[in-house]
Amino acid sequence: MDKNNGQPKGFNNFSKFIVFYLLLAIFMVYMYQYFFQTQTTEIPYSQFKSLVEEDRVKSCTISEKYIHGVYIDKNGKKKQFVTVTVNDPDLVKDLEKHHVNFSGKVTNTWLTNLIFGWILPFGFLFFIWWLMTRKMRGTSGGLFGFGKSRFKVYLNEKPDVKFSDVAGAEEAKQEIQEIVEYLKDPQRYQRLGGRAPKGVLLVGAPGVGKTLFAKATAGEAGVPFISISGSEFIEMFVGVGASRVRDLFNEAKKLSPCIVFIDEIDAIGKSRAVNSLTSNDEREQTLNQLLAEMDGFDSSKGVIIMAATNRPEILDPALLRPGRFDRQIIVDKPDLKGREEIFKVHMKKIKLANDVDVKRLAQMTPGLVGADIANIVNEAALLAARENRDAVYMEHFEEAIERQIAGLKKKNKVISKKEKERVAYHESGHAICAYLLPGADPVHKISIVPRGLSALGYTQQLPTDERYLMTKEEMLDKVTTLLGGRAAEELVFGSISTGAQNDLSRATDIVRALVTQFGMDERIGLVVIEERGGGHFLTSEGILTKSDRVSEKTKQLVDEEVSRIMQECYSRAKSILEENRGKLDKLAGELLKKEVINEEELKSIMEGNYGD
Ligand code: ADP
Ligand code: ZN
Repeated sequence: MDKNNGQPKGFNNFSKFIVFYLLLAIFMVYMYQYFFQTQTTEIPYSQFKSLVEEDRVKSCTISEKYIHGVYIDKNGKKKQFVTVTVNDPDLVKDLEKHHVNFSGKVTNTWLTNLIFGWILPFGFLFFIWWLMTRKMRGTSGGLFGFGKSRFKVYLNEKPDVKFSDVAGAEEAKQEIQEIVEYLKDPQRYQRLGGRAPKGVLLVGAPGVGKTLFAKATAGEAGVPFISISGSEFIEMFVGVGASRVRDLFNEAKKLSPCIVFIDEIDAIGKSRAVNSLTSNDEREQTLNQLLAEMDGFDSSKGVIIMAATNRPEILDPALLRPGRFDRQIIVDKPDLKGREEIFKVHMKKIKLANDVDVKRLAQMTPGLVGADIANIVNEAALLAARENRDAVYMEHFEEAIERQIAGLKKKNKVISKKEKERVAYHESGHAICAYLLPGADPVHKISIVPRGLSALGYTQQLPTDERYLMTKEEMLDKVTTLLGGRAAEELVFGSISTGAQNDLSRATDIVRALVTQFGMDERIGLVVIEERGGGHFLTSEGILTKSDRVSEKTKQLVDEEVSRIMQECYSRAKSILEENRGKLDKLAGELLKKEVINEEELKSIMEGNYGD
């Protein structure tokens, strides 16, 4: 998120406005008192009495609290005075005796009380309230108050962010192209027979530019962009979240075609199964409302819901069904080249010295995301400005990078060189097994750019075609590939790390299925022992359910068979890697250098003609 987007833009001007009026009011009160006091002298009652005795009081008005009047001073000039009324029964007699023109006055305290005690303060409060609502309306699309979403609408100013402002992320841009086409002219798109898209889920670590990307999508299509954060939906009042969702969609329909962006959707979309113990009615209501709205609106209206999360695995599966967020786009952390491009995008705004080497900067910032890089460029510019330099030099960038990384280190977000090497070998292990085993899916991309907290690197394999049938050999090749990471670590470092945890559990799942569901194991034979529940998300319902007809002995046998097959696959992976040790080293080395290796590069390394 752009940090300043959350606040109504006019707020600063608005507070300046209030302060100005307050100061003006105080100033006027002072001026009034100042003049009033120079004209009117406050005198003690005793002096007033003696003035009366001396016939110097011309006239006076007596009220309950004060006596106001005019007297002649020593120079013969008329002057106003005021004194406090004292309980003096002789006063009237004295005044009559000295022919003072006097009058009494019933003090209308109720009126002044009413004005000063009630009307003015309330009037002032009302005035401020009126100003505030007026300002809010101006900046947030006419919405303010309970249950109304305080989202920011870029009405006329359709975001001027374009894809060119989002560096890297080429794949994501291609995937979203269809949405851009659709938003440009929803009706035409439908006439041509396209199924109108509805929801797009952007998945990626914080700061990789998901918000920026969504905004750029709106910018490219030239449509308004409404954004709200998932956590804003959920507030302390029950029912507010759901009504906010309703408001949001009503507003979106009015503005269509447009993009609605929900940041941190995991705040509302957490799987209901995940924490059924601490059920949260408010969140659930909000989620249900969101699902209902997404199902309810007609997609020819041209409203696209984009949402962002960095934890897709905890989302409620209901959100991911067809017609909802059925498209998922992964926004990766940038690789070396991506970081270089992000540096360039942000450097456009500053004056660069000649010695700045963008490539080196990209090399110095492994694992950092777009938001970090934007910070670094900004910080470097500030450092240069502080030194009164004519431009931003390499030294400023270096210092800024150091600061940024030091900040991230505190939060445990930077991995060490040693860890990186281990990850490189681990991923190379997967990749080489996948490359050499016919049953494994071909490798699309290997990356050691860290993603999120759990996965430090990944090897992306794409199935050649949709396969519904898998042979036993293919399953075993898959398992071997999954174990290849761990095998490489053992081979190279003589030890294994916790990094292979996910691999192990996936491998175990496959082997268990092979033994217990598909009757593929010789010793167990043609029996189905376990059945898998529905749902491809492994939530509580998706976990294997044991049937009762299995004896203890069979269970034991299953366990033995599973671990035997796992062990065999592991040995196989290790021997494949041993035979190809040279290639393993080469691949890991290249990965450390480039961070990302694609299919062709892997092929040429494996065929021994890399770099020719
Ligand atoms: P997210 O929504 O994924 O947390 P943001 O979109 O809020 O990340 O990104 C924060 C800032 O980081 C952006 O406003 C932009 O300045 C910078 N940034 C992130 N990714 C990129 C990128 N790919 N290209 C250029 N700038 C980026
Ligand atoms: Zn692995």
